[in-house]
Amino acid sequence: MCMEIKVRCACGAQEASFNLRDHVLPPEVVESLYCPACAEKASFDPARMLRDRDWIIVYDMELARFMMRAKLGIDPQAVTPEFLFDEGYATWKETYPGELEEIEAEKARIVALLKEDPQRYFEELRQWAQARVERLKALGWRKAQRM
Ligand SMILES: [Zn+2]
Repeated sequence: MCMEIKVRCACGAQEASFNLRDHVLPPEVVESLYCPACAEKASFDPARMLRDRDWIIVYDMELARFMMRAKLGIDPQAVTPEFLFDEGYATWKETYPGELEEIEAEKARIVALLKEDPQRYFEELRQWAQARVERLKALGWRKAQRM
């Protein structure tokens, strides 16, 4: 039911995937995106932007409020950047941009164990997943705080 979109940041160096829950909001709701390298160019406005670590997402709040009211009957005053992000209406597809690639790299080491020692593989995998969530929480990624 989710729609996935890709958005390139203002400087063009990076691209992030977003999920748009239940097709409520069109892709244009993500007005622009700033990666850690270009985030300082954005003058941060909490009324229409959300900061997640060094990334900044700029939302078209007029569009978001209009669509949320038209499709879901949600009071426009309740629609904030935090609401759009936390409720999944326009949020990272992953826990943070680039997570899947990092997971692949980290997991390659553990997967090598599968043939040698399956029991140890599952134990390592479990520990790795747990440690990973703790690390993402400590780093301050917004989605990780709710895991
Ligand atoms: Zn950038």
